[in-house]
Amino acid sequence: MKVLVIGSGGREHAMVWKIAQSPLVEEVFCAPGNAGIAGQATCVSLKVDDIDGLLAFAQQKQIDLTVVGPELPLTLGVVDRFRAAGLTIFGATRDAAQIEGSKSFCKDLMAKYGVPTASYGTFTDCDEAVAFIKQQGAPIVVKADGLAAGKGVILADTVEQAVAAVESILCEGAFGSAGARVVIEEFLEGEEASFLAFTDGERIVPLASSQDHKAAYDGDTGPNTGGMGAYSPAPVVTPEIHDKIIEQVLKPTIAGMAAEGCAYSSILYAGLMIKDGELKVLEFNARFGDPETQPLLARLKSDIVPVLLACARGDLSGVELEWHDKAAVCVVMASGGYPGDYAKGHAIDGLDAAAGIEDLVVFHAGTTLQDDSIVTAGGRVLGVTGLGTTVAEAIERAYQGVKTINWKDVHYRSDIGRKALNR
Ligand code: ATP
Repeated sequence: MKVLVIGSGGREHAMVWKIAQSPLVEEVFCAPGNAGIAGQATCVSLKVDDIDGLLAFAQQKQIDLTVVGPELPLTLGVVDRFRAAGLTIFGATRDAAQIEGSKSFCKDLMAKYGVPTASYGTFTDCDEAVAFIKQQGAPIVVKADGLAAGKGVILADTVEQAVAAVESILCEGAFGSAGARVVIEEFLEGEEASFLAFTDGERIVPLASSQDHKAAYDGDTGPNTGGMGAYSPAPVVTPEIHDKIIEQVLKPTIAGMAAEGCAYSSILYAGLMIKDGELKVLEFNARFGDPETQPLLARLKSDIVPVLLACARGDLSGVELEWHDKAAVCVVMASGGYPGDYAKGHAIDGLDAAAGIEDLVVFHAGTTLQDDSIVTAGGRVLGVTGLGTTVAEAIERAYQGVKTINWKDVHYRSDIGRKALNR
């Protein structure tokens, strides 16, 4: 069969890498892809929000399965459009993707169906939002309602910071229409974990646990990023926590989505805060996480294509996942300056040497081909993913890869996975 993957990041490279291994697959396309993806798939220069172009391409090439990576095309209704045209596509429908695309929708859903989450208020009026902040006190969290590439969340230590955030989002329109509404919520403490599960709207097929590292610098300091690394499994997700996630989070959320008329058949990502054996949901994403997907798919033994097809067709009965008995750690190598301004176009050295290291996969994110050499083209550039019999071994393997690769002003965290060792 022919498969089209939509996206261009490390997550999409991991998907293409895994899909290309399936005996069911003859040809993989990726739109738009990157220099690493080009090694396993034919890259097509179509943007992820060019829904008309993507649909025309899939029809012309007679694509058997399309897999959507990022959230933007989901919220633009790519899944609805493809299905209306009779094509098979893996991803959340536009209605279902509201669980990520609107934080107020997500919070109201959790409140209605009893899913544990931080207490909150939703506001469109600046004065009312400010009054709420003054009544609640700090620390407190202010979130733009819509998609803001992770930048619309302000963790305010003081009432003044929270008020300034509300003024910037609601009154000055810092995030455009994504900030026409804000969610203001209780500040939660604890350890974060990511939990992903396939669902067909009823059945749940959980993936292994994982943990992301959002802060730019070691020790979880500095500004938030798209994610500087991840590991799987995450020891904070004990068997008891695992059961609570299924019972208290996934089951009521999936049943609630169906009851609201937006049945969810795709991958559901729950961002969780865990403290003293209890958990609360920070957010849901309607897609695979980036970089969690890189270590997760590196560990997945089962062929992923039948699972994606089953989700796309809305029937996961009989589907189970098998995992390699190894841990995986992904270290993101980024451009110096990221998540702020950074330069592009630096030549990347050492990729061939890294390719020769056993139990190591280098997933590309912001890379492109320039005059036959691979150069940096984004903030997050590579996801260097090591496997090992323990997390410690996987960390060692990943950093062996990282040290083999270099470019001008490269930046990475040196403590990815350490939290798992500390437990
Ligand atoms: P992304 O899509 O990049 O994950 P997002 O914009 O959807 O981000 P959230 O995941 O809701 O935003 O929040 C981003 C980060 O902010 C979380 O991973 C967490 O570290 C922190 N955070 C969010 N809500 C809270 C909260 N209520 N208490 C403490 N920290 C929080």
